[in-house]
Amino acid sequence: MKPKVAIINSTYERIDIKELLTSIDYTPKKKKILLKPNIVGPKDENSHVITNPKVLIALIEYFKDYEIVIGEGSVAGTDTKLCFKSAGYEEIAKKYNVKLLDFNVCERKKVKWKYGELSLPKILDTHEYINVAKMKTHLQTTVTLAMKNQKGLLSPLDKKEFHKSGEINAKIAALNEVIKPDLNVIDAIDCMEGNGPGAEGTKITINKLLASTDVYAIDNAALKIMGIPINKVKYMKKQEYETIGILSEHRFKMPDEYYHKLGLRMWFNSSCSGCNHNIMTAIKTLPKYPFKTIKFLFLVTFGKLNIIAGPDYSKLPKKGKIICVGTCTKKLAKEKGYFHIDGCPPKVEEIIKWL
Ligand code: SF4
Repeated sequence: MKPKVAIINSTYERIDIKELLTSIDYTPKKKKILLKPNIVGPKDENSHVITNPKVLIALIEYFKDYEIVIGEGSVAGTDTKLCFKSAGYEEIAKKYNVKLLDFNVCERKKVKWKYGELSLPKILDTHEYINVAKMKTHLQTTVTLAMKNQKGLLSPLDKKEFHKSGEINAKIAALNEVIKPDLNVIDAIDCMEGNGPGAEGTKITINKLLASTDVYAIDNAALKIMGIPINKVKYMKKQEYETIGILSEHRFKMPDEYYHKLGLRMWFNSSCSGCNHNIMTAIKTLPKYPFKTIKFLFLVTFGKLNIIAGPDYSKLPKKGKIICVGTCTKKLAKEKGYFHIDGCPPKVEEIIKWL
């Protein structure tokens, strides 16, 4: 039998979880529930970068008779507590008496997987696991949906290992063989297209909510909605599914090969969010240093400045000044004689110092 994917029309003011979940006959098997949203960085509650907290509120209200924990591990260089606070999750936790769990410091257990040992949150043993993803395009992995959202369960060390090997797509696929969510929900009300997954991606509103117990089915249906062929997403596994509701197709703008602004190009070649986030923050912080800003603007206006991070050396700039950022680019910088800023990830201040 094909797995079912429920698709309902929704706005943040009207979210009908009952309609969404009864159509796929979903009832939790355990008494305790873990909700895993996508809150990559410190964003406000209306940001199109994160799972909107109103979706979580609707789920908490629907599962009011269960003991609920909301868990997330923010990217390197950010604090999960701050992410929970800025997106309004701290208030939600107080109001509904639910717990917040920081996966970056939680209790873990070792499990075997294709690449050796993986450290997973212990809470997965005791709680029904509901994966609450966001519909977004992603510069490195083309999209981030339910499969990719599971990466947030990893320890900070395992997240780095995911990237260091340069096999991020194969590892996302393998991770999904190890962890199977009991339910997946995708917030596709406000979504992201273009150069996601951060603030450089553009908001696109399609007013949908999706749910399925099958992570592959929901991601296959989400790709169809986004108008992105399945072969554009290297980690995706093809899965037949039955749609409950109307699957309307949109044409999401695809991400570019690299971020670009004026003559600045940022090549995030399988790099972790830690490097990406700190590079972006360094550039945004630069106006605090007038002399550096003038020098930087001169360079990006009249020449080309390339900043490279990550272990994948297959896509590299052909011209312009090149700065390599992070331990992963050390070998490349040494071989080619490029300027290198070390660290895993390097601190924001360290990046600013050399810009
Ligand atoms: S150097 Fe950057 S990209 Fe490489 S593992 Fe460290 S944080 Fe990740």
